[in-house]
Amino acid sequence: MKRNLIVVLIFSFHQVVFSNQLDFVGVSEKNKSYDIEFSLEKTALIVAQSSNSPFSISLEFKETSLKEDFDLKQNYPIKNIKSSSSENDSIIEIFFYEPISWQKPQQIKTENGIKVSLSLGHSKEIKKMTREAIVMIDAGHGGRDPGAIAKSHNVIEKDITLLIANELFRTLEDTDGYKPVLVREDDSFIYLDQRYQKARQNSGDIFVSIHADAFSLPSVKGAAVYIWSDEASSNSAKSLSSKKVSSVRVDEFDFDEDLARSKYPEIYEKKKGKSLQLGKKVLDQLKRDPYTHLHKKRVEYADFRVLKSLDIPSVLIESGFISNSEDAERLKGKPGRRMIARSLFLGINNYFKENLEDDFFIYDAEGYLTYTVQRGDVLSEIAIRFGVPVMDIINTNLIRDEAIFPGQRIKIKI
Ligand SMILES: [Zn+2]
Repeated sequence: MKRNLIVVLIFSFHQVVFSNQLDFVGVSEKNKSYDIEFSLEKTALIVAQSSNSPFSISLEFKETSLKEDFDLKQNYPIKNIKSSSSENDSIIEIFFYEPISWQKPQQIKTENGIKVSLSLGHSKEIKKMTREAIVMIDAGHGGRDPGAIAKSHNVIEKDITLLIANELFRTLEDTDGYKPVLVREDDSFIYLDQRYQKARQNSGDIFVSIHADAFSLPSVKGAAVYIWSDEASSNSAKSLSSKKVSSVRVDEFDFDEDLARSKYPEIYEKKKGKSLQLGKKVLDQLKRDPYTHLHKKRVEYADFRVLKSLDIPSVLIESGFISNSEDAERLKGKPGRRMIARSLFLGINNYFKENLEDDFFIYDAEGYLTYTVQRGDVLSEIAIRFGVPVMDIINTNLIRDEAIFPGQRIKIKI
């Protein structure tokens, strides 16, 4: 029996109609916190901005169509929520009576598509539109993927990366103006593609991936910082990145970063520049770290897939080679890991210092960071965390007998 397959190719010259439809769901309130919800069919590129004249937030949903146009009056402190659309994009503007604090929208996968959630806060203390910088912290590997293994030193990469990630999370979490998000919080497996998708879903302002490598030569040691490139800049970077490729795991609700990079070359170029800037800031701090040697003195390029988002500045740090006994001991110990976390924090902070958007509030009016003291904190450890002398903290905050208490808000100049 012979079967003939007839293939008919139909070329369509109609304009592409975007299948991703945006709809307004509603506003909910709880204790002066507000949540504005929208629905999408799949994850979108959303450009979110605020303005102080008038007090408003605009959300530009790229390549989406509105289910219907609307201009809906709301209760105080929200005035109204208004839609409009341009050729390919839908724009939502939310107007307020007074300035509010807000978070960039989250895109949460549900059975029926994507729930878009915009969180707002309202209080008399807020003098201008304000939001936190969202830092995505990606602890490399996890679960059935251990990463590098150094049996002779009894250490595996996935444990080290999570400990450093948690340390960095702690500092950012307790410092005003930052909202850290852990890509993985425990020893669970996450596909590489899901990691940058998570950054997209959480509207990350930056993405930092933490690793610790191993090499066949035990003498090779030190830290290095990488940013993404199609063409890796060095052979060592090439061999590193090819090891890290695992199967692609993007589903129908996910955002196609590869396609987006070709569609929005300007956005991607900007991201590349910002990634390099962030990488340099982190590297500058690692150079100052007395515990850590540098494996590479410049920011390196590699095609690490986790770093490939269209618009979110992304860096990957190899905190050392656990195949080297000196590095293994350094990263097994809390002081060594804390130094990596500190370099990351200071690098991140210096990056934002140069990229302070109008609505960030990382520094107060006098240029201080504000840290909230946690249970178990001692001044000497806070000083190490921020890389400042203990006496600076004591003098700035008029602390007597080094006595601090949980919940105390202290100012730090860095
Ligand atoms: Zn790794």
